[in-house]
Amino acid sequence: MDIQTLTAAVRNIPDFPIKGIQFKDITTLFQSAEYLRGLSDILYDRYKDKGITKVAGIESRGFFMGPATAIRLYAGFVPIRKFGKLPYKTIEEKYSKEYGEDIIQIHKDALNENDIVLLHDDLLATGGTMAAAYRLVKKLGVKKIYINFLIELEKLNGRALFNDDVEIDSILKFE
Ligand code: AMP
Repeated sequence: MDIQTLTAAVRNIPDFPIKGIQFKDITTLFQSAEYLRGLSDILYDRYKDKGITKVAGIESRGFFMGPATAIRLYAGFVPIRKFGKLPYKTIEEKYSKEYGEDIIQIHKDALNENDIVLLHDDLLATGGTMAAAYRLVKKLGVKKIYINFLIELEKLNGRALFNDDVEIDSILKFE
């Protein structure tokens, strides 16, 4: 499946959820069996040789391809959720959003020093969400972390928040 076709399948919604945001709607990509398999194949190819033991997905749009990729890699899946949603003991990280702060959490026993983690979300904008998720996963002392996005908004330069020692990859790139 070529990247151009998949890129064209993402629907752009101007001014959603607020004025000025060009919202990248991935439902149009997911609803096609062919595109969904194509995307899954790309993810599998990129990570099949990395020894990934767990895929950690960020609520909520990291919960689509996160588990799908985990199944193909024969890895486990770990949810990173908004404050108050996880039932067991958690650790947390704060991050600032456009208005105020948000908190994400992970179960404290979800990952350990033997894990090679693929940290996944649908989209990289400013990078604030993923930077917090990265700090969270690091706190659990894992062996190695890879970061993946389906979409990167390159103009916002969210990558600048990360050191060179972490491998960041996005499949579809927009301005
Ligand atoms: P950020 O923390 O700024 O990198 O924002 C990333 C998070 O916000 C991701 O979980 C995305 O789902 C969501 N997001 C931010 N900007 C957009 C956009 N233009 N289209 C779709 N989702 C977005």
